[in-house]
Amino acid sequence: MSGRVEVAGVSVSTEHFIGGRRVASDATFTDISPITEEPIAEVARGGDREAGLALEAAEQAFPAWAALGPQGRAERLHRLADLIDANVEPLAAVECMDMAMLLRSLRARLINRCARNFRNYADLAVEYEERVWSSNGTANRVVRMASGPAVVITPWNAPLMLSTWKIAPALAAGSTVILKPAEWSPLSCSLLADLAVEAGLPPGVLNVVQGIGEEVGAALVSDPRVRRISFTGSPETARRIGVAAATNIVPFTAELGGKGPLLVFADCDLEAAARRAAGQYDDSGQVCLAGTRLLVQDSVSERFLELFHRFTDEHVLGDPRDDATTVSPMIHPHHVERVLGFIERARANGDEIVRGGNRLERGLWIEPTLIAPRSNESEVVQSEVFGPVLTLQTFADEEEGVALANSTRYGLSAIVYTGSAERAERVGRALRAGIVWVNTFLVRDLTAPFGGIGISGIGREGGQYALDFYSDLKTLQILEGSCGT
Ligand code: NAD
Repeated sequence: MSGRVEVAGVSVSTEHFIGGRRVASDATFTDISPITEEPIAEVARGGDREAGLALEAAEQAFPAWAALGPQGRAERLHRLADLIDANVEPLAAVECMDMAMLLRSLRARLINRCARNFRNYADLAVEYEERVWSSNGTANRVVRMASGPAVVITPWNAPLMLSTWKIAPALAAGSTVILKPAEWSPLSCSLLADLAVEAGLPPGVLNVVQGIGEEVGAALVSDPRVRRISFTGSPETARRIGVAAATNIVPFTAELGGKGPLLVFADCDLEAAARRAAGQYDDSGQVCLAGTRLLVQDSVSERFLELFHRFTDEHVLGDPRDDATTVSPMIHPHHVERVLGFIERARANGDEIVRGGNRLERGLWIEPTLIAPRSNESEVVQSEVFGPVLTLQTFADEEEGVALANSTRYGLSAIVYTGSAERAERVGRALRAGIVWVNTFLVRDLTAPFGGIGISGIGREGGQYALDFYSDLKTLQILEGSCGT
């Protein structure tokens, strides 16, 4: 079965979008809703053939799209942004059904943020000024050239946000795109393809290919016609894609997992810190940027824990379409099993389960779980769980707190709670992370650099950094006076 299905009252294509038209495959895969655990779509399952067709379309569309210039591209990308804003309801409803993010967050923030991605990058590309200078009797100029077809591979959490975060700079810079969304939540990106047609994006500029990572994903990233690969997902997959990128010598950016610390110093607003810590269970902890390692100064740890339990008790595990729900179900039964495996191994290792640790009788929820590890080397401290599982450790002073915070191989994000400006500056600089939030979380200026250190990633996205990634910079040097000026 392929074609179109009704999801949350919205008609969604289950086919690929290649060269401006819908393309079916012989095979399909089943997409289930985490809310009902029922199949909601049989989605076209691409392979070598579909990867080849998409690359052909992206290659053919590239010269004209690049030649359109930043202003011409910006007009179309602004139209696409307006259409996303006008379609918040269907986009939010489908994404909620497909991956169970809270409907009210999608409606209030996340979908509009996808539109902002297109607006920001369209404008940034127009504003870009070529650097011009004179040296050694020559006029020098830095010229930005669009790089060519880019393959964008994204994970299942926040599918539309994470995809548009990459598609927008690529298109604004003049590259064409082949998006391969994750197989557990592909549907909102299919709606994006419909909007691209309405916005007047020429055929082949944006292509969406559905399928399994090891199949169509692997075929896409290993094709020598690809000029850029942008990936968000797990370090394990990044290693495989990195081999393909290295084989073809293609620039590759990777935004990967995290194991962020949430440092609580005795001088902070303890109630705010505890509330923030309990908030790390939102989205069932399926957030790469989450502060999953609670590191609390000894002198306030007892009081912190009291407050933390109080705020965690307030969580409502339920249907993400209900306004009262604060913790939505996890993405897939396989993922629930994976997370339970971490908890079982922690038990076996002698780590203390302070709260939670069990699966609910019905649905894809695991109780908000807190574990006091036996040592800093415990698996649950050192590996990303990507579920509602936090660890609790204490430290005596700033030096020990920072050392613990920096003691994993990850380095995506960190959260610090302190009332001291000096400490905020000192600790903020000492932490090994791509972003450090002090007394806040998740607010982010889209023009700021974003990315990880260590196994949390390679390269930076955001603002100018992403535009640079999808461009080839060239130096044009002309002997002064030699061309009559
Ligand atoms: P994943 O690595 O399993 O899959 C990500 C994508 O890669 C999917 O589309 C998948 O189909 C594809 N893929 C898998 N194997 C492939 C291959 N051999 N070749 C090409 N593509 C392949 O990750 P996931 O489970 O979907 O997502 C969870 C992970 O993503 C977590 O580690 C999380 O921290 C990370 N993440 C990071 C960020 C960030 O910004 N740093 C944001 C969100 C999620």
